[in-house]
Amino acid sequence: MNKGPLITLAHGNGGRFMRELIEDVFARHFGTQQLDPGLDAAPIALDPEMVAVVSTDGFIVEPLQFPGGDIGALAVHGTCNDLAVSGAVPRFLTLGAMIEEGLPLATLETIVASIAAAARENDVAIVAGDTKVVPRGHGGGLYLTTTGVGERMPGCSLGLGTIRAGDEVLVSGPIGDHAVTVLLEREEFDLSGGLASDCASLLPFCQPLANMAGVRFMRDATRGGLATVAHEILRGTGLGIELRESDIPVRDEVQGVCEILGYDPWYLACEGRVVAVVDPAIAAEVEALWRTLPGGEQAARIGSVNGSAHGVVLRTELGGERMLEELEDDPLPRIC
Ligand code: MG
Repeated sequence: MNKGPLITLAHGNGGRFMRELIEDVFARHFGTQQLDPGLDAAPIALDPEMVAVVSTDGFIVEPLQFPGGDIGALAVHGTCNDLAVSGAVPRFLTLGAMIEEGLPLATLETIVASIAAAARENDVAIVAGDTKVVPRGHGGGLYLTTTGVGERMPGCSLGLGTIRAGDEVLVSGPIGDHAVTVLLEREEFDLSGGLASDCASLLPFCQPLANMAGVRFMRDATRGGLATVAHEILRGTGLGIELRESDIPVRDEVQGVCEILGYDPWYLACEGRVVAVVDPAIAAEVEALWRTLPGGEQAARIGSVNGSAHGVVLRTELGGERMLEELEDDPLPRIC
């Protein structure tokens, strides 16, 4: 199959091919209004009333494209979501692209278009970037790194330190869709039944909660999944977490794949789900609000912070108790 022109080492040599790659692929999709060619660094203006927050993340997913998204959408949403769950509005993004020699230019262009679309969705400007080309066999096609700068709302008091025994735990939608979608795409199993990654912006879910009285903590359940967020809460507060299996939304396709391959959905990566810890007095309100949002139809109250539990406990559908230990092995490498 003819894949068209391919990335060569010359696209990373600092000369004409590199300039053309940046102009014809990256700058064309991102727009150049933010890029001042007279400077080697981008000035950014932030509201002095707001606290500036910054987050960075690397993306090495394999394959690069999968149902529901690609590495470009992941790289933008992933970093913007980290800002969003911290109570911030993303404003600026930088992008580092490590490209492997031999990657089809058309694939790169599709991914760059996806980066631009996700940036528009988050209303974030890509203000600086870098490209490098690594020799064939030295990279997984394309690795991306994004750094995001956002503005945290004044008065936002989100933090592990605000969590109290009795608080409720909510999740914004079904868990494990991203991990299982990527796994099925990689292995070419024909089990997906139309399953797609949940890769999406969490801003609509987080912004209304950032300043809401009674919201204690938010975290996007990415690598390590729901159980890993629960362990972060346990470590940060010393309080146990009890989760109710019957209330945690898991799609039938994800459950089915987990049963066949021996995975626990509690540990599987999501890329568009937020876990929130809130005062029980507002838990129903948050659940109802999330359910009105696209992708939030199955938002649920799934458990509580429990002063007497010693660890992360799953109350099973059959009424038993199971300890969810902290993840040790990586069940699915290169998932995000
Ligand atoms: Mg995160």
